[in-house]
Amino acid sequence: MDEKVTCGCNCTTAVNDVKEMKKEKEKENEKEKENWYLPYMDKKTKGVEVEERESPVAVFYCAGASNVGQSTMLGSVKAANETGYEKASLLCLASISAGLANITNAAKSAKGIVAVDGCPMKCTLKTLNKAGFEVDKHIIISKDLQISKNFDLNSQTDINVIATAVEKDIMAVYNK
Ligand code: SF4
Repeated sequence: MDEKVTCGCNCTTAVNDVKEMKKEKEKENEKEKENWYLPYMDKKTKGVEVEERESPVAVFYCAGASNVGQSTMLGSVKAANETGYEKASLLCLASISAGLANITNAAKSAKGIVAVDGCPMKCTLKTLNKAGFEVDKHIIISKDLQISKNFDLNSQTDINVIATAVEKDIMAVYNK
């Protein structure tokens, strides 16, 4: 038997209904945090029918083997969590080098591209340029945000500063 709660005006609401509504809301929240664009473009590239959606801004990061390299990934994830995945999508840089069609199509169809590099070696920018892509915004963590490069891969300092800078660039490209 359904457990009942009352709002005091002679009507009753089934607790199960409330639980169902809560579950739906949680599902919606989870969906907002889903990096949906990559699997969506994968389906499109394979010719699978999908419900058309507006493309987000593509974010590529170097994820290099240094504090600033790793922080390009952590900072980009935090930034996309803040903007929401309707506006930003994280795409695999290595797949661009590998020439994979799904990522290449995703980059081509994106609203714009933000490239995030750890240091002035600019691996993200160079990889994208080499594949024929121009970027709309480019951040070099060690130069533009003055965060010194070291090789402590567990360092998570300055992630908030990095995320804020990436988020600002995502929104600038999204709103242009
Ligand atoms: S840009 Fe710098 S930190 Fe990033 S992968 Fe290249 S060398 Fe490593």
